[in-house]
Amino acid sequence: MPGGKTAVKEGAFMVGRVAVVTGGSRGIGFAVAVRFLREGVHVAVLDIRDEGGEHLAAVGHKSGARFLHVMTDVASYRQVREAGDKVREEFGRLDIWVNNAGWDRITPFLSTAPSDWEKVVGINLMGTVHGTRVALEGMLDGKDGGAIVNVASDAGRVGSSGEAVYSAAKGGVIAFTKAIAREVARQNIRVNCVCPGPTDTPLLAENFHGEEGAKIIAAMQRGIPFKRLGDPEEMASAIRFLASDEASYITGQVLSVNGGLNMVG
Ligand code: NAD
Repeated sequence: MPGGKTAVKEGAFMVGRVAVVTGGSRGIGFAVAVRFLREGVHVAVLDIRDEGGEHLAAVGHKSGARFLHVMTDVASYRQVREAGDKVREEFGRLDIWVNNAGWDRITPFLSTAPSDWEKVVGINLMGTVHGTRVALEGMLDGKDGGAIVNVASDAGRVGSSGEAVYSAAKGGVIAFTKAIAREVARQNIRVNCVCPGPTDTPLLAENFHGEEGAKIIAAMQRGIPFKRLGDPEEMASAIRFLASDEASYITGQVLSVNGGLNMVG
């Protein structure tokens, strides 16, 4: 390579680093937490649900990585701040923050109420704003830089029927990612965004249940070039990449992981 200078250290992923994964008790966040723990990254999951912790602790035990669950509603800035303090108290540093917690109920916009809009924006957009603020303060204190990965959605890039406010919130996450990436690049903090396409998680199952739900999922699969839903582990691969030193020259980017469903230029 001309000049021979690269920040990529082959084989040295992130052993001993500290990661926060919001919404890591199930679904995509859980797959991310498993992936990190297997690779020796200490993980704190911030979630309103306390599930999967035993499994995560056992995975960490094998690689020497520690696991912590902090009961947190990401829609509350106070709770996210307190959780961030707890993580730094327990682990002493903060290197990676994955803003993954998200929620929606697919409903036509005209059938939704202001309380629905507030909930969707509170979790998906404000949860990311809260997490990012706390993450940046921790990373700036550490002076080693860091990586933030936001989990948005293809809905935020192309719009999704029945998910108008969710699409707006995820579009907000994408724009926020780019703006923050510019603000903190000089501090060696990278900020990127992954947009999952339809992924086989409890959230998807809750939105499309019963016979009607199965029909919609089948139609969705027909529309995906790969003819199948995404797997949470496939989302975790992209998130892990953007969180790692292998992405050392990547910031402010949006990566769709969607089996080719949308090909946004
Ligand atoms: P999921 O419901 O299976 O898991 C989400 C996790 O977030 C759960 O553990 C839940 O308890 C937690 N959570 C929800 N609200 C929270 C809150 N207020 N505070 C803290 N934790 C909270 O969902 P998933 O499908 O794994 O989704 C993960 C992310 O991926 C979300 O941001 C979602 O919007 C996004 N996404 C999912 C799909 C999909 O098809 N599954 C598609 C596009 C984007």
